[in-house]
Amino acid sequence: MTADVIDGKAFGENLKLGVAKQVAVLKEKYGLTPGLAVVIVGEDPASQVYVRNKNKSTKAAGMNSYEHRLDDTVTEQALLSLVTELNEDPAVHGILVQLPLPKHINEAAVIDAIAPAKDVDGFHVINSGLLATGGKGMVPCTPLGCIMMLKDRLGSLSGLDAVVVGRSNIVGKPMAQLLLNESCTVTIAHSRTRNLAEVVKRSDIVVAAVGVPELVKGDWIKKGATVIDVGINRIEKDDGQGGKKMRLIGDVEYDKAVQHAGAITPVPGGVGPMTIAVLLKNTVTAACRQAGIDEPEA
Ligand code: NAD
Repeated sequence: MTADVIDGKAFGENLKLGVAKQVAVLKEKYGLTPGLAVVIVGEDPASQVYVRNKNKSTKAAGMNSYEHRLDDTVTEQALLSLVTELNEDPAVHGILVQLPLPKHINEAAVIDAIAPAKDVDGFHVINSGLLATGGKGMVPCTPLGCIMMLKDRLGSLSGLDAVVVGRSNIVGKPMAQLLLNESCTVTIAHSRTRNLAEVVKRSDIVVAAVGVPELVKGDWIKKGATVIDVGINRIEKDDGQGGKKMRLIGDVEYDKAVQHAGAITPVPGGVGPMTIAVLLKNTVTAACRQAGIDEPEA
């Protein structure tokens, strides 16, 4: 048995097309152009790449993109003032502050300063609380995209055994909550979990969000299970010519897992490429809610 490969790139592209269609309707019918403001502090190379891609994709979907680049010496107060300005700007429907922030800035204070209705990353405590209590908040992009891929693949998730490996606030916990909301029986595994292999072996759905290369072994995967690998790990490999090259791998031992799983996301090309598409989708959702109109069909 070889698993079907879930193509996150195609999934993301399809989602982006749907968002562009929604934006066209919003512009024509309501004169509403959703706007996303992205704030980046400092010169972190990975963050620069993410922000460039977000800006490009936002514009390609027909939305307004507002980029705010701040020096890494900016004070917390100045950053908070910018967030307040964006909260009050009616042209801005979504605000994203790219993490990580420099050490002298309190990340939690900045996230909590974002108006929950504009918090398209879904990190604000109000939004975490709404997700936990079945309310209508903004949901973090990566887990939301994972649940969309799972439902696309499996239809109803009701009654399935799911394990989420990793308990971070931005991926693991919201992922577990979303699976619970879909009526899965959910286990959250973490660094202190005693027998990870056993937990994974009984799971119909495995979501790995750890940041440890190939932590989840291929032969732990139950026959036919669906595996979503969120991990992004950069490792050095021999290039076969006496040199080294960088390679991206996930948290799951992919080559072996494909022999057991029913479906699996690869790294790269799985979860990563659909995350930006979900951010755009969240911006449309936020814009519609702020305008008090129903979200157009995608
Ligand atoms: P994090 O470091 O905040 O959390 C990692 C979690 O893994 C922790 O809860 C920890 O308890 C758990 N963990 C650590 N070692 C473990 C072990 N040996 N066994 C079981 N659990 C263990 O990381 P994060 O922000 O949640 O990100 C996780 C991974 O997902 C990273 O590789 C990150 O790059 C990737 N990521 C990808 C996307 C995407 O769009 N594809 C988005 C966010 C994060």
